Amino acid sequence: MLTRATYDANRLGKELGSALRGSVCGDPASRALYAVDGSNYRVVPDLVVVPADVDDLAAAVALTAAAGAPVTLRGGGTSMAGNAIGGVVIDASRHVNRILDIDTENRTAIVEPGVVLTDLLAAARPHGLAFGADPSSGSRATLGGMIANNACGAHSVAWGTTADNVRALDVLLADGTRCTVESSGVRDDLAKRPGREGELHRALQSFVDANELVIRRRFGLFTRQISGYALHRLLPEQGYNVAGLLCGSEGGFAATLRATLALTPLPAARVLCVLGFPDSITSAECVSAVLAHHPLTMESINVDLVDRLPGEVRRAAVDAGLPDGRAWLLVEMGGEDSVAAERSAQEMLAALRDSGSPATASLVTDPGAQAVLWRCRTDAAGLATRRADGAEAWGGWEDAAVPPERLADYLRGLDDLMGRYGLSGASYGHFGEGCMHMRIDFDLLTPQGVAAYRSFVEDATDLVVELGGSVSGEHGDGRARSELLGRMYGSDGLDLLAQMKRIWDPGKAMNPGVVVDPPPLDADIRHLGPAKDRKLLTLFSYPDDNDDFAQAQRRCVGIGKCRQTRGGVMCPSYQATREEMHSTRGRAHLLWEMLQGDVITDGWRSTEVRDALDLCLSCKGCLSDCPVNVDIATYKAEFTHHHYAGRPWARPLSHWSMGWLPQLSRIAAKAPRVVNRMAGTAVAKRLGGIAPEREVPAFAEETFTSWFARRPAPTRPDTRGAVLLWPDSFTNYLAPQIGRAAVAVLEAAGYRVVLPDGPVCCGLTWISTGQLRTAKRRIRRSLKTLQPVLDAGMPIVGLEPSCTAVLRRDAAELVHDDAMAAAVAESTVTFAELLMRSDWTPPDVGADALVQTHCHQHAVLGFDADRALMAKAGIRADVPDSGCCGLAGNFGFERGHYEVSRAVGERVLLPAVRAAEPSTAIVADGFSCRTQIAHGTPRQALHLAELLASALGEQT
Ligand SMILES: Cc1cc2nc3c(=O)[nH]c(=O)nc-3n(C[C@H](O)[C@H](O)[C@H](O)COP(=O)(O)OP(=O)(O)OC[C@H]3O[C@@H](n4cnc5c(N)ncnc54)[C@H](O)[C@@H]3O)c2cc1C
Repeated sequence: MLTRATYDANRLGKELGSALRGSVCGDPASRALYAVDGSNYRVVPDLVVVPADVDDLAAAVALTAAAGAPVTLRGGGTSMAGNAIGGVVIDASRHVNRILDIDTENRTAIVEPGVVLTDLLAAARPHGLAFGADPSSGSRATLGGMIANNACGAHSVAWGTTADNVRALDVLLADGTRCTVESSGVRDDLAKRPGREGELHRALQSFVDANELVIRRRFGLFTRQISGYALHRLLPEQGYNVAGLLCGSEGGFAATLRATLALTPLPAARVLCVLGFPDSITSAECVSAVLAHHPLTMESINVDLVDRLPGEVRRAAVDAGLPDGRAWLLVEMGGEDSVAAERSAQEMLAALRDSGSPATASLVTDPGAQAVLWRCRTDAAGLATRRADGAEAWGGWEDAAVPPERLADYLRGLDDLMGRYGLSGASYGHFGEGCMHMRIDFDLLTPQGVAAYRSFVEDATDLVVELGGSVSGEHGDGRARSELLGRMYGSDGLDLLAQMKRIWDPGKAMNPGVVVDPPPLDADIRHLGPAKDRKLLTLFSYPDDNDDFAQAQRRCVGIGKCRQTRGGVMCPSYQATREEMHSTRGRAHLLWEMLQGDVITDGWRSTEVRDALDLCLSCKGCLSDCPVNVDIATYKAEFTHHHYAGRPWARPLSHWSMGWLPQLSRIAAKAPRVVNRMAGTAVAKRLGGIAPEREVPAFAEETFTSWFARRPAPTRPDTRGAVLLWPDSFTNYLAPQIGRAAVAVLEAAGYRVVLPDGPVCCGLTWISTGQLRTAKRRIRRSLKTLQPVLDAGMPIVGLEPSCTAVLRRDAAELVHDDAMAAAVAESTVTFAELLMRSDWTPPDVGADALVQTHCHQHAVLGFDADRALMAKAGIRADVPDSGCCGLAGNFGFERGHYEVSRAVGERVLLPAVRAAEPSTAIVADGFSCRTQIAHGTPRQALHLAELLASALGEQT
């Protein structure tokens, strides 16, 4: 819903704007971007504040609260219950994110609230330390959000929840009081503190003294009782742990400005024991037996999720040791060395066998294999959003927990309940703690469906309460569960929650509506709005989304993996800018808001959406790395097409110069020297919309196709038949030596190389600049030319990964009415795939190589064949986790993109190339990657074909 402010948002915006050094935004794009978190809910904020530092954060909170406006702190926005939306959203993740200290002696860290967990872990790891609570969203969840939600992770069975690992918090109350609360303290001393701080402690102490019995009866009964507030932390045996009480208060008490955290020593060795079971209930039945052996983790996944993994990941999981079964537990055992860790695992397995458990098991010691198996678990929340048949599934009842010994009963009861409601879902979770996550195929798109959802959730709550459980086991209550707290805590418990809220925040400024005084759990469901009904005519088909652009825009449920701060291909522009707007999630959400139409009102003409998509590199990293395969590159192409439809004059100049590159190249090929002289001038760059910092690549004196036509007929007999080598524009006009090298290698391998009978083009440059009708025409024309090739069943070999990826995927989705496009996709192979299919023995290159995987290769084509071919050719390949090179076709050449393009390259790739030994070959199959390397380092990269050809002794 659009919040109707009860205060003057404009006035507050101005006041904040003049008081703060950070940004204060009330524009539609900012408000739309922050209207959702990782939940089913949408509440459009009135303002979005991004403080410049911790003092700015404090000032923002104090001024907002003083104006009577709701203060919603925000970290990574990965909350799954609607904990981080509405009012004035204050985003601490962007700038308030310093690690201030790692004290190895005392094993503590001091952090600002916007620090992302994996950044803290990376800082602590060299000292053999870690933060004990490790939610699977830790690559983008912030410590501020983790503290507020009392996040837990796989290791909580051994190391506890966030609350168990917080020593002290510097906080700001809504009335401007800044104080430090600690995990233990002498009550009397604290009560004597002056001013509001002492008053706060006196109130807390009177509260606990007056309500001890109810607190003992209702709160802190098992570790995953995360719902409500952790009132038991104030009890004497908990050491009057006020910091612990703040954990899990969902930003409803105070803002965390700084945290002192305990760090846990990492075990010297760990083994992963993967247990396989016929079903989840059977796996739950062995929880107590495994827990007796003090595992570090005990996490569950099941076949519904594993079946949804991309094929290669699934195969890798099986290769890594996923045993037979339909449900699995990932049990990690630690020890002072690998022998001790393995011994513990064997003892646990022996005990399981003795108990009659039907578990199959495999012991995984290789860290790489362990990482593959853990990915099945960490991607689960995203994977579970689609059922195997493509139907949508949602959170909402995703986080209940029961005491672990009641888990099997809970699963039985839930199966029964779901059967009664005709629902299904994929489950996963922290079985060692009795906490089970799931996404269920609720119908959240219709009022009747939402009514059924409410009814189900109420029944499920009763089931959980009957088993002594909690409606939230770690995600918090937010908007999804706060209304259910009465069923769980009864009226006396509910009254205590309200009293506690009043002690901290009598004016109800801090995240109102969460835990206390909640709105109905079926209010503000985001998908009930008009977005779902907008049936837009699109150029691409969306085959995995029922050909429905609106359904494609519902893929992003906000889990925020694209906001990870390190590693991976997704999302390079977020990693460079750290702006929500430049993340996959931000873009996907703005596209959804465009369909919704109440905040972003211009449809395809929206400048907000255009600007958010502007820094998308179209690397397609999200297509493969996002667990729900959001494909922003395709959506960007679609949007750009419609945005400029009928307004060619409005397009950036680069769309003409680079979008039409194949055509311009044909002309340039007639007089390459003249064109090269002119193209590098400042005027030409300006006219072409090209960044002044970029050197324009030179056209070759002779194109690859001309060379091929004039070369003498090959003398070597072909033993493996004919292949069509795709003469992409980059190879043909700009790097023909690669085509020549490929011909040499393919002929040495026994193939007869042929080229198409006429000019062909995959349409890539028109697709990436959103000129989709032209792209379609080019592809159709090429399909006609390819007809004889397809009739002959010839493989089509691509050298340039971006063009090969279009042939393999995009062309078929764009020209979906022509079966030939699908046939081309079937016939297209990469250079390495073709050679690995044959039993050809490549020459022994015997070299070290630093290899850059093209992002489209990563996302669409796969890189396994390249790795295998390199290994076969004796190339010792180092393939860094460098992501997209940053140039990404036209992106890095375009005016205004240079800085981001360069920053993306400087993340990993360019420093790695600079650091490489001169004797190490630099290998990059993508023209963009080679260009970025040439522009940013003194090295020239080679295509793999060139490296192999040079070992054959071929001059290319
Ligand atoms: C795929 C996925 C997997 C997840 N796995 C887990 C898991 O394994 N374990 C788990 O516990 N959770 C998990 N979660 C839930 C969520 O990621 C965690 O609760 C996480 O700690 C939230 O961090 P955040 O930075 O995104 O916080 P946000 O969502 O931005 O905010 C969370 C809460 O913290 C408050 N807040 C934020 N900053 C402050 C501050 N400075 N001061 C006061 N209040 C503040 C917000 O107002 C909000 O109430 C998962 C979520 C997703 C999407």
